[in-house]
Amino acid sequence: MKRISILGATGSIGRSALDIIRMFPERFSVKALAAGRNLALLAEQVQAFQPEVAAVVDEFHHRELKRKLPASCRTQILHGADGYTAVAAWETADLVLSAIVGAAGLRPTLAAIDAGKSIALANKETLVMAGEIVTRRAAERGVFLAPVDSEHSAIFQCLQGQRREDVDRILLTASGGPFLDLPVEEFPSITLEQALRHPNWSMGAKITIDSATLMNKGLEVIEAMWLFGVGVDQIQVVVHPQSIIHSMVAFRDGAVMAQLGIPDMKTAIAYALAYPERLALKQPLPDFSGNAGLTFREPDLEKFPCLAFACEAGRKGGTLPAVLNAANEVAVNAFLGRRLAFDAIPRIVERTLAWHAFEDHPTLEAIIAADFWARQTAEKLVACISDIST
Ligand code: NAD
Ligand code: MG
Repeated sequence: MKRISILGATGSIGRSALDIIRMFPERFSVKALAAGRNLALLAEQVQAFQPEVAAVVDEFHHRELKRKLPASCRTQILHGADGYTAVAAWETADLVLSAIVGAAGLRPTLAAIDAGKSIALANKETLVMAGEIVTRRAAERGVFLAPVDSEHSAIFQCLQGQRREDVDRILLTASGGPFLDLPVEEFPSITLEQALRHPNWSMGAKITIDSATLMNKGLEVIEAMWLFGVGVDQIQVVVHPQSIIHSMVAFRDGAVMAQLGIPDMKTAIAYALAYPERLALKQPLPDFSGNAGLTFREPDLEKFPCLAFACEAGRKGGTLPAVLNAANEVAVNAFLGRRLAFDAIPRIVERTLAWHAFEDHPTLEAIIAADFWARQTAEKLVACISDIST
């Protein structure tokens, strides 16, 4: 029986993970849950899984959650940074699914590593911001970081039984998002509704926008660098609009291994939860009738500059990836709040990166300071751009 703690239980990944756990009650039990503000769903989850502890964002949500739960509920309710740390390091849990979105996932994930838990890592921002520190601490604690991101799960699967020194390169696939074929002249008029309509994947709002700008692929390049110990130049992004091949690894003898499946995160989540076993998920297979028409092309970096910014930040390292990530979170948030145009997202990121005073091999404190500075800078830029355009 694996005992699980979930950070980000009410999100797209958290909900899919709980669906899997529900399918295999003899294999998994839920000991701890954390979420942000979706109290209605968290209250349902607490009643269904009866964890020992649950944490929410602040005192107000703590009180509200208590009101939603019956008096007989024995789950201890916590809140704030201490609450998330407690859920991450909960004594009776063996494995922590890190599925909070954005930079907010960093500290709880580090707390889980420090507590020696196995990690199923969905929160890619953790590795983007502090890959060097996170992977070093994990190695020191003997903690295994199992990738949940579908591409990284695919790469991890392709590497099973292979020698790392035989890897020539990683082929990271990208759907290309909803605007793959839209002429760049039309980017200024892209609406929120259009950007939220991903052609293949159903995901949380932030990652869906990141997929439309290709920033998601850029963050994934940095994530792959840390998970698999490769440089940016060993990672080739391949646009594959059908999202059936989840990524590939090319070896030095010319062999290419690929992992295929329908675009549904359950396979990757289940693999991270049950590794090295595979669960009988009964997923449908991709369409092999000949109609799937698997195609490939190169990414257009002029149309999608966020991918180029992220690769550059990954190459230079230091505080730059944290600044890239923070500026992007602010810009995406502004776009989601209808305060910023879609085509302004890369401009905010580019400016913030250009103004940043780079620091190499930063401490965690320096990374958090860079994140804070980048948020403030990007917010000011958003305000300026909004002022000009309104
Ligand atoms: P989501 O927006 O659907 O859910 C996010 C979860 O985090 C929710 O439970 C929310 O309550 C919680 N949360 C949000 N802000 C918080 C805060 N400040 N403090 C504490 N909790 C907070 O996001 P998602 O799509 O499930 O993505 C989660 C992570 O997994 C992201 O890092 C994303 O990049 C990664 N990921 C997601 C998918 C996918 O298919 N959704 C695929 C690959 C990777
Ligand atoms: Mg992915």
